This record gives sequence, structure tokens and C-alpha cells, in this order.
Amino acid sequence: MTDLRRVAVWTDGGVDVVPGDRPVVTAFDAGLGRGDGVFESVSVREGRAPHLAAHLARLARSAAALALTDPGEPAWRALVDAVLAGWDAGTEGVVRLFLTRGLGDGTPPTALALLSPVPAEVLRQRAEGISVVSLGLGVPADFRTTAPWLLGGAKTLSYAVNMAALRHAHGLGADDAVLTSLEGRLLEAPTSSVVWAVDGELRTPPPDTGILPGTTQARLFARAAEAGRPTRVAHGTVDDLHAADAVWLVSGVRGVARVHTLDGVARGDDGLTGQVRDLLAR
Ligand code: PLP
Repeated sequence: MTDLRRVAVWTDGGVDVVPGDRPVVTAFDAGLGRGDGVFESVSVREGRAPHLAAHLARLARSAAALALTDPGEPAWRALVDAVLAGWDAGTEGVVRLFLTRGLGDGTPPTALALLSPVPAEVLRQRAEGISVVSLGLGVPADFRTTAPWLLGGAKTLSYAVNMAALRHAHGLGADDAVLTSLEGRLLEAPTSSVVWAVDGELRTPPPDTGILPGTTQARLFARAAEAGRPTRVAHGTVDDLHAADAVWLVSGVRGVARVHTLDGVARGDDGLTGQVRDLLAR
């Protein structure tokens, strides 16, 4: 099978594009050794990245939280344009932007854009829905907002805990996890935001819980408000999800994945998934 993956590397002289299997980073990079960096995953449809601006804004906020040198929006746009050049418009893709501290010795940071097709499993979950389990994160819901060293709200490369939560969920026979605070408040999924519907109102947990503010959730709520559908940023619990009319995990790459099973209990969506997708497509 042809390897469609490719990488654009930010250099002093501009942008280099190389095939996805080519080494581009030194083994001494702080992103590799310490996860000391930030990233974004940006959806590519019809050969374009229509929501890039929101991701670049969040990348800049994440970089500031880690005191990383950010090459700036023109550099990121040049990297994205470079990897997208010639991409087959019929193949849904994901651009991942990586910014690391590099060697950490005052030399420039590492800035990369990687483009690859969206994995088939993501497409399957979008089409068929997902089963999720709730897992505790052990952090009080209001703690991260007072503890900047925990990097709440930043999309850091230190995703080993998120990946372990996913593997744990898989081990329990589920597709994904919903993480909860020490007190049992809803937070987010390892790579998605949690949204649920109550009497036609869309709800999601507040960002001051230290979760990553989702660009897809924000767009969904903005479009819902324009369309006259009520939205609310509110604390919730797993019991609230069981009682909700519908529950979704949403992200830029995944889109809207309907939760059909929560902690082993089957649940419906009251026919709302299509409406939520329509809102996002507006
Ligand atoms: N929460 C976490 C932890 C994530 O990793 C992601 C995905 O990037 C999201 C939420 C959803 O963010 P977005 O909608 O911007 O893709």
C-alpha cells in the first residue's frame, strides 16, 4: 500500500517537505525525551484545513503556557500549505502540528507538520458510534486552574496518561473513556470533548476544570446558538450522562461520535446526532 504520509519541517531557510518515513528530528530533542512540547491535530477535508485558525490560536496559547518559542502563524501556515500541496482531495486527512523545545540550549525549537490519512478506526467510530467507560483522573475539578505547572488547558505532547486511559478502556472492551475529577465531575475524553443533551440543550463541562478547550465543541455551541438551540457550559456527572437524551465525544478529527454504551449500559441518542452533525456542517 502506498505510504501517503509526509512531513514538513521548519528550518532557518524555510520549509522542507520529506516523506513520512524519513527521520527529521534529533534523538536529543526535548519533545522525544520529555514530552516537552505542544501539538494540534487538524482535520483535512477536500484537501483543505478549514478550521486551522482555531487550532493555531490554541497552539499559541499552549506554547505560551510552556514558555516555548513559537515560530508564529505565518510559519505554521507555510508548513500546513507545504504538506497539503498535492494531497488527494478525496482522502480525509489529519495534519498534526508539533512544536517542541528542541535541544533546549537556546537554538530554535522544533516545528513540524505531519499529514496522514484519518485512520479507518476513527471513521468506523464516527459511523457506528462508540462504547465508553468512565475513569477517574484523581484531580479535584477546581485544582488545575490554580496550578499552572499542571498545564491545564494546554495541548502538550505529554499524552502518555491519555493513551494509557484509552488502552485501559480497550482492555475493558470499550472504545474510549470519559475522565472524571476526584469528586466525580465530568472532564473530557483522552482525545475528545464530552457533550450531552438535556431537553434539547447541549451541555459540556467548563474549561476551568483544566480540560482542553475543544475547538469542535466551541464551534458546535456557536452554531447551535446561531440556530436558536440552547447551550450550557455546566458541571455534570456520569449519572447525568446516563440520564441525558444523547451523549457524544467530539473532536476535529473524529467529528461527532455518538456514545451508544456507557459503563456497559446501552443508551440512545433521541435522533439528535444528525442534528448535531448538521449544526457543525453549517
Ligand atoms: N480534549 C482533549 C484531551 C483532546 O486531545 C482533544 C483533541 O484534540 C479534544 C478535547 C478536542 O479538541 P478539538 O475539538 O479541538 O479537536
